[in-house]
Amino acid sequence: MFVFLPDGRRLDVPVRADAASPTGGDVASAIGPGLAKAALGVKVDGKLSDLQSAVPAGAKVAVVTKKDPEAILLARHTLAHVMAQAVRELFVAEGFPAASVRMGVGPVIENGFYYDFDLPRSLTPDDLEALEGRMRAIVKADLPLVKYELPRADALRRFQDQGDPYKVELITDLPADEPISFYEQGGQAGFTDLCRGPHVPRTGVIAPHFKLMSVAGAYWRGDESRPMLQRIYGVAFATKEELDHHLWQLEEAKKRDHRKLGAELDIFVIDEDVGPGLPLWLPRGAIMVEEIERLAKETEEAAGYQRVRSPHLTKEQLFLKSGHLPYYAESMYPPMVFEDGDKYYVKPMNCPFHHKIYAARPHSYRDLPLRLAEYGTCYRYEDSGALMGLMRVRSMQMNDAHIYCTEGQFEEEFLKVIDLYTHYFELFGIDDYQMRLSKHAPEGLGKKYVNEPELWVKTEAMVRGALVKADVPFVEEEDEAAFYGPKIDVQIKSVIGREFTLATNQVDFAQPARFELTYVDENNERKTPLCLHRAPLSTHERLIGFLIEHFAGHFPVWLAPEQVRIVPIADRHVEYARGLQERLATAGLRARVDDSNERMNAKIRDAELYKVPYIVVVGDKEAAADEVSFRSKQEPDRQAVSAEAFIGHLKDAHARRLLNVSPLG
Ligand SMILES: [Zn+2]
Ligand SMILES: [Zn+2]
Repeated sequence: MFVFLPDGRRLDVPVRADAASPTGGDVASAIGPGLAKAALGVKVDGKLSDLQSAVPAGAKVAVVTKKDPEAILLARHTLAHVMAQAVRELFVAEGFPAASVRMGVGPVIENGFYYDFDLPRSLTPDDLEALEGRMRAIVKADLPLVKYELPRADALRRFQDQGDPYKVELITDLPADEPISFYEQGGQAGFTDLCRGPHVPRTGVIAPHFKLMSVAGAYWRGDESRPMLQRIYGVAFATKEELDHHLWQLEEAKKRDHRKLGAELDIFVIDEDVGPGLPLWLPRGAIMVEEIERLAKETEEAAGYQRVRSPHLTKEQLFLKSGHLPYYAESMYPPMVFEDGDKYYVKPMNCPFHHKIYAARPHSYRDLPLRLAEYGTCYRYEDSGALMGLMRVRSMQMNDAHIYCTEGQFEEEFLKVIDLYTHYFELFGIDDYQMRLSKHAPEGLGKKYVNEPELWVKTEAMVRGALVKADVPFVEEEDEAAFYGPKIDVQIKSVIGREFTLATNQVDFAQPARFELTYVDENNERKTPLCLHRAPLSTHERLIGFLIEHFAGHFPVWLAPEQVRIVPIADRHVEYARGLQERLATAGLRARVDDSNERMNAKIRDAELYKVPYIVVVGDKEAAADEVSFRSKQEPDRQAVSAEAFIGHLKDAHARRLLNVSPLG
């Protein structure tokens, strides 16, 4: 028999005397004894398999060693079995019969594995530690894993005899032609599981970088009417560094969680009486909102946008015209119905209002591109289960704008919007992002998407062309478009590994026509403009939620709700401190004097809890010489700086919206 190696070379593999087909292990041996020893599995025509499974003739085979990224997937699956063996050992040691430990499924998942158990008692955190110890012993014992198959009837009888309804159900559901395979580790005294594989050849090759994380209830087959099992989660990595980084990300995610930090830093609250998903901005949060709005307004004004304003609710008619009804109905709040039968909806989007503003006056090609901007407040109905802090809310203020342009102007306008995104990302120090071109799916035409097959193809090509021209990396995704046209989603990743769709940029060929928007071109003919929808700063809610986690609450000076905390050493320094605060305020900076009766250390600790970027301490020396001593991230202990120089330095950092403020010269 022969197979092909990754470099295209043909390799002859001897067929063994027992006439069974050669296995992945036989292929590795045929290549050489060194590789046979290092082999953990194989990839057969791109699919991960193990050394014991048969390899079909003519397949393309690559041997997997511990250097390959697939190795950890094999180890994670085997660890699920090792964990199951450890659980059985634990209960047998407590005097329970082995058959009282029954098992559901134990798959590989992202970063690790889990296994579902039906056990005589509930597991505790202490059990996890004990189980991990037993698992390490099983790994160290270097048990070989042996694969064998059984006829379906025999396999069923085995689990029926053991009184295990879960495995019986799994076998019954397997397709009739599917072989029923088992993996046995450490012989009959060890552990055997119904399993498709693949696995590492021996438990001893598993690296020790694994950890059991938690136990949680999980319904058998995800069905609430079936028994609740106990699911143990574990993580496993190839190196200690990867495991440590993963555990760091989990810890950091807990500390940085914007719901926790948002409360500690007095940024927002969600009040039951107001309603779920309807955040209230506290004064400190409102300052951040104002700063971001100021940023948007300045940037947009310089880029030729005009500001408009529109109401929060409107007649049903407008959303029928826009197509939000019916395409977007399930994300909308139910209507308010008046006595005369008129229905009003709160707005889920600002677009139809801007279209009406465009339509309110006639336009010639000379007016285009026309860019209308508004920080519009929108309301979207989200399932209560989907709500999450500031990230998934029911009321939101959006950095919205609509650009009406000719087809010839499209590319330039589109590229300018992309520039806007990258400008903002630089400002916030977001460097892990990806653009995604979200396209329609032909089967959704007339349902999820307006039924204009040719226009879809044309606009998708236009967007793709512009992205290529801008030389930004992007991926394409089917069936993710807006109902009126293709869009660009910008996915960003925070340092703690969380992904968000922060901003979108959409091309709309449908709504301008539905709203009968026109302009008169050079030849005095009526034409329909294209519309670009864009919201690079997303909503205040989502952006600030992200920034809290991104900066772990240590905002850049320009965005920090409180930029300077002034701590007078004694009562006699309060007057100087107040004067300093006034001078900072005159320079447009936000400072507070802590004149409470607390001791100085307690005052400094309080300022640190609020993550105030500059903590200024003033005493006799400072008051006499009009100086400040301060601590900041860059300068943890800076003594006796002229107050004038300090104020000027901060004013400059604020005005330029610096991500990091350099030390004072
Ligand atoms: Zn398995
Ligand atoms: Zn829009």
